[in-house]
Amino acid sequence: MTITINPAERLKKLPPYLFAEIDRLKREAKAKGKDIIDLGVGDPDIPTPAFIIEELYRAAKDPSNHRYALDAGMPVFREEIARWYDKRFGVKLDSQTEILPLIGSKEGIAHLPLAVINPGDVVLVPDPCYPPYKSGTWFAGGEVSIMPLEEENGFLPNFAEIDPSALKEAKLMFLNYPNNPTAAVAPVEFYQDAVEYARRHDLIIASDAAYSEMAYDGYRPVSLLNAKCGKDVGIEFHSLSKTFNMTGWRVGFAVGNPELIKLLAKVKSNIDSGIFQAIQFAGIRALKDGDDAVRKNIAVYQDRRDVLVDGLEKLGWKVSKPKATFYVWASVPAGYTSAELCSKLLKDASIVVTPGNGFGANGEGYIRFACTVSKERILEMLERIKNLK
Ligand SMILES: *Cc1c(COP(=O)(O)O)cnc(C)c1O
Repeated sequence: MTITINPAERLKKLPPYLFAEIDRLKREAKAKGKDIIDLGVGDPDIPTPAFIIEELYRAAKDPSNHRYALDAGMPVFREEIARWYDKRFGVKLDSQTEILPLIGSKEGIAHLPLAVINPGDVVLVPDPCYPPYKSGTWFAGGEVSIMPLEEENGFLPNFAEIDPSALKEAKLMFLNYPNNPTAAVAPVEFYQDAVEYARRHDLIIASDAAYSEMAYDGYRPVSLLNAKCGKDVGIEFHSLSKTFNMTGWRVGFAVGNPELIKLLAKVKSNIDSGIFQAIQFAGIRALKDGDDAVRKNIAVYQDRRDVLVDGLEKLGWKVSKPKATFYVWASVPAGYTSAELCSKLLKDASIVVTPGNGFGANGEGYIRFACTVSKERILEMLERIKNLK
């Protein structure tokens, strides 16, 4: 006797998986023994710095780290986050009430709507975007209202164009700068406008700053909390994943409004049981002693960015050099949709890139390159594109 298993309605709400066709072609090419150059995923190819791994070894050998961790994170980790935030952004945080360690920032982002959204509430989400803003909203029973990110507006949302009827029901707005997938950055004036808008309309701002440390040519991204009254309306998500090549470790943190931090902590204490303490100790070392490692990393990505963008420009593509993130967001040459171009690159040149519409309808007309392969492989990729017919 077998039982009937039906997916819950909330899972049925998720859009069809747009990368399925790319995944299928990738598997096919691999099976044929093709030499694939994969710039599809935003996952650093460079290892975690050795001093961070050493700290994990040390802490993992200590039995006092083997038990359940505190849901709210170790006080020493929260204190180190407070020091780092002050050093980096010049913003003082109360380590007890304004900081919450996370099992990766994705976890916190996806759980936040469960803390503040009721069925029928609207969440304002940029489009194209990192997918958990939408799925987290749907899982909480909320409605997504998109804010299109347009190139002529620097891929910043235009608040004046937000639909008034959606705005009436809106409780939360997601922002993400430096941005995935467009690689756009936001000046402090933008955050200031966003905070004033949020105060006028009683909105919470959730700022995803996962790429705050990955910036080039001396550019230093700012925080939502650098805007006046930012902490009154906002929560900001940070991650060690991209900064320290620690995507697999699952460690990040939220900072900001103490009430929002408390509500998110309440959701989480009913779902997870904290971060392995040895990983929290490694996180402390990363934040405390990681500046040199980050500088070296950035030099590598900046070099790759230059090779990729200069190469694509020489081939007649319309691209510009991003100030931050390890992505290059390129306009699709005339005659193709995003998906068609991605399929062609994979079939005819064994190159994997991501179609822009996989991040939302407004991503159509673009593809995303992730500079997560070596400079030599990027040069080889450019050569293959040049030889395409
Ligand atoms: C990679 C990424 C994250 C970070 O995820 P973690 O869960 O911390 O690994 C968050 N937001 C965006 C936009 C990302 O691209």
